[in-house]
Amino acid sequence: MKITMEEAAKNLMEADRLAITAHVNPDGDAVGSALGLAVLLRAKGKQATVYIDDKMPQNLAFLPGFNEIQRPDVEIPKPDLMVVLDADLERVGETLKLAPGVPVLNIDHHVTNKQTADFYYIENRAATSEMIYDIAVHLGTDFPLDMALPLYTGLAADTGFFRFSNTRPSTFRAAARLLEAGVKPNVVSENIETKPLSVFEGQAAALRTLEMSSGNRVAGLYLDQELTARLESSEGFIDMIRVIEGVEVAVLIRCLEPARCRVSLRSKGLDVSKIVTRFGGGGHVRAAGCTLEMTLAEARRTIQTAIDELLPPL
Ligand code: 5GP
Ligand code: MN
Repeated sequence: MKITMEEAAKNLMEADRLAITAHVNPDGDAVGSALGLAVLLRAKGKQATVYIDDKMPQNLAFLPGFNEIQRPDVEIPKPDLMVVLDADLERVGETLKLAPGVPVLNIDHHVTNKQTADFYYIENRAATSEMIYDIAVHLGTDFPLDMALPLYTGLAADTGFFRFSNTRPSTFRAAARLLEAGVKPNVVSENIETKPLSVFEGQAAALRTLEMSSGNRVAGLYLDQELTARLESSEGFIDMIRVIEGVEVAVLIRCLEPARCRVSLRSKGLDVSKIVTRFGGGGHVRAAGCTLEMTLAEARRTIQTAIDELLPPL
């Protein structure tokens, strides 16, 4: 059932024990919204635990509460409510199996959300963290640093530090309030952007795979399995090529297994979510992704063809 922000807040307040989760391949918004919500709920006298069914990116380890995040491979007392953040129910791995039969509240800002939760509050907003911020304001709270820091990180991560088109006046208002609560923006950016030397070197190797296509309107990085395996993270790689003059669509394909590739797309306005939903992926108009059970060469051809169908003729 589709619900409003106020109804989502009421739902949260009616539960006593809550399990919170977010998508696999977690990013700053997934982790930030989950940790921020957990602190809010505890401030309201609830029990809240965060489960994420994936390896955690170490550049988010500076967030208070990061070490409490658990894999869903434990037995837990039955919660009253399962909260799924920043994704639909298909992208949270095995977490929902922790609490079979428990009602699910889904809070998400992805336009491609499949809307299958018992209750879903979905809006086209900058970040899920911005939606949690709204709920916090609605419920009345001060913003202790352990709530403010994750929420700010979520806003910053999903807006490219307030540069992308999803950045709104409401995003800056939320960010301003969170800075007043003590968040240091440089601390967030330094932590998110610091990378091990090995990743930096991997970035150089990745850049060497750059290929332009479709009359230089498509820029792509195509990482084979060996390079992909060598990289702890590929965060920010696609942003390096998005900025090439004339580029409408940036593509990053990473080969995980001989016939399994992860695809990331970025655009200047073309709706790339349309491309990935055909292949079971999702995202936003200008940023989307999917997994293809194909070799690197097949995945590349498939994505190139799909992009060419959307691009206006030269
Ligand atoms: P990224 O390219 O950074 O992995 O993802 C870009 C956007 O698309 C993010 O909002 C992310 O949540 C979404 N996204 C990426 N991959 C998938 C996917 O396989 N399924 C869905 N539903 N969304 C995805
Ligand atoms: Mn997000």
